[in-house]
Amino acid sequence: MPRTCVFCQSGKPTREHALPAWISAELPGEEPFRFDQQGKQWLSRDAGKVVKAVCRSCNGGWLSVLETKAKPLLAPAIRGETQTFSVTEQHTIATWATKTALMCELARLVAPADFVSRPQHQHLFQHRQPAPGTHVGPVPIFV
Ligand SMILES: [Zn+2]
Repeated sequence: MPRTCVFCQSGKPTREHALPAWISAELPGEEPFRFDQQGKQWLSRDAGKVVKAVCRSCNGGWLSVLETKAKPLLAPAIRGETQTFSVTEQHTIATWATKTALMCELARLVAPADFVSRPQHQHLFQHRQPAPGTHVGPVPIFV
């Protein structure tokens, strides 16, 4: 795990959910989540694996603002409700997806692939948007 916040590079990392806790409540079904990570398998009632990579200031600041903007857009879509997103809303979702991909990579919920590189971390922090050329598409998080 990093010694300083992966975004601001200065704060001390604290525990942060790789996948936001609210997602667990939105996903359909009653079955526990199945995790398979580097040969280790387990079941959990929530998808909230934590990673120690983001400082309290980033987590409670700009990342909280991003989560607050993204949740009402994504929650109905996760529940299967048909959604139409404006360009601004698509931008918010792409930014949230980039941030979440980074957190899942750090939590090893996906194979390390450097799909979110160090310059992309910096760009996301400095500009609050994915770096130019970032492709946001479906990525298998759970195997
Ligand atoms: Zn930070």
